[in-house]
Amino acid sequence: MSDLKGKVAIVTGASKGIGAGIAKKLAAAGAAVAVNYASSREGAERVVADIKVNGGKAIAVKGDVAKAADVRRLFEETRSAFGRVDVLVNNAGIYHFQPLEDITEDEFHLQFNTNVLGTILAAKEAAKHFGPDGGSIINISSVASEQAVPTATVYSATKGAVDTLTRVLAAELGPRKIRVNAIAPGGVETEGTHAAGVIGSDFEKDMVARTALGRLGQPDDIARIAVFLASDAAAWVTGERLTASGGYH
Ligand code: NAP
Repeated sequence: MSDLKGKVAIVTGASKGIGAGIAKKLAAAGAAVAVNYASSREGAERVVADIKVNGGKAIAVKGDVAKAADVRRLFEETRSAFGRVDVLVNNAGIYHFQPLEDITEDEFHLQFNTNVLGTILAAKEAAKHFGPDGGSIINISSVASEQAVPTATVYSATKGAVDTLTRVLAAELGPRKIRVNAIAPGGVETEGTHAAGVIGSDFEKDMVARTALGRLGQPDDIARIAVFLASDAAAWVTGERLTASGGYH
């Protein structure tokens, strides 16, 4: 598969989980990839090494997506390493579940700053750095934006915002040939879902029971769709939210 030969992609939060899977798959499809991370340098360097060993091109770039200066540097370092930017995957995200009575201002701002402000700041830089042929922005949403999951008030609201800003930016950036789409995964086995105690819990069992294909997703299930949305095969697709959940209802 070499759909992305000559293209340059930035994947935020790619040191582990879904982001790492997407970075590897974009690289396997021919893109040079900037593997962004917030704190896990080792994880990001493992992803870069894996890409290089398979003949691809990648760099690791530290940066907090919620900080404009970090996001600016992420794009500048990518452009100086690879000469251009064509694809942005806004994957960096956090999910903390708490009942209404435990929600605090700090918790609200932490999740909104990472999941929503981070997505907007990176899209803003992408629009600056993409060339005259435009580019593709892929926002990682969640089935949580449409499903009513108790204790997911703040997280679900962040992903509802991601869905909305995806449609707005698609309309705003369409005249510049920039496509903006979202992927909404169902439950995916990642370092994050392990750390959050989802894997092995009754919540996981319930998710699997409600999933037509009878299992949790893996990062690769989502990464394949990111390659499609990044590629010219999706040249006529923008402003869409693609659910990738194995049929979770
Ligand atoms: P994960 O395993 O916890 O990995 C999260 C990644 O995001 C890490 O690389 C982390 O970097 C990075 N990150 C966190 N805060 C950041 C920040 N401020 N700036 C830059 N990077 C940051 O998560 P995941 O399960 O793969 O989830 C990835 C995305 O998919 C999230 O947007 C999540 O909401 C969405 N999603 C996940 C699932 C699921 O079931 N897993 C389902 C639907 C949607 P460090 O490790 O360096 O801190």
